[in-house]
Amino acid sequence: MNRLIVGLKQAGLRLTPQRVAICQVLAESKDHPTAMMIYHQLLPQFPTLSLATVYKTLHVLKSMGLVHALGDAGDGAEHFDADLTPHINLVCVRCHRVVDFDERLVHEIQHIVEQRSGYEVQGARIVYYGLCPDCRAAQRNGKESA
Ligand SMILES: [Zn+2]
Repeated sequence: MNRLIVGLKQAGLRLTPQRVAICQVLAESKDHPTAMMIYHQLLPQFPTLSLATVYKTLHVLKSMGLVHALGDAGDGAEHFDADLTPHINLVCVRCHRVVDFDERLVHEIQHIVEQRSGYEVQGARIVYYGLCPDCRAAQRNGKESA
């Protein structure tokens, strides 16, 4: 049982196989999925799954602070991250990929923020926007139109 499933139970939601599967996708995914990505990933396994169920489950998890909403990646859809440890998200504005970038300095910055502000930081959202190496290469080669 991952902490997301425990959280849904605490929120009073019935633990249907579909909701449990949504939690598993979130916990295991490194792709920072959108609701639509989760929906399409689970549809073969759960043909009766509705997009509304995915949205509602994500909304509950987000309101409980169990997943972070990263905002859109230039694709107009909200991306979610179940990894709450301080890290940087790199967003490619061209292919809309979101990847993690682990930098030790981020932990130090959080420590400094806590020390100086008196806050107990429970999460952080650090997003860098730009072009990923693949898109940079594609742009250089001029094989794709921008
Ligand atoms: Zn890219």
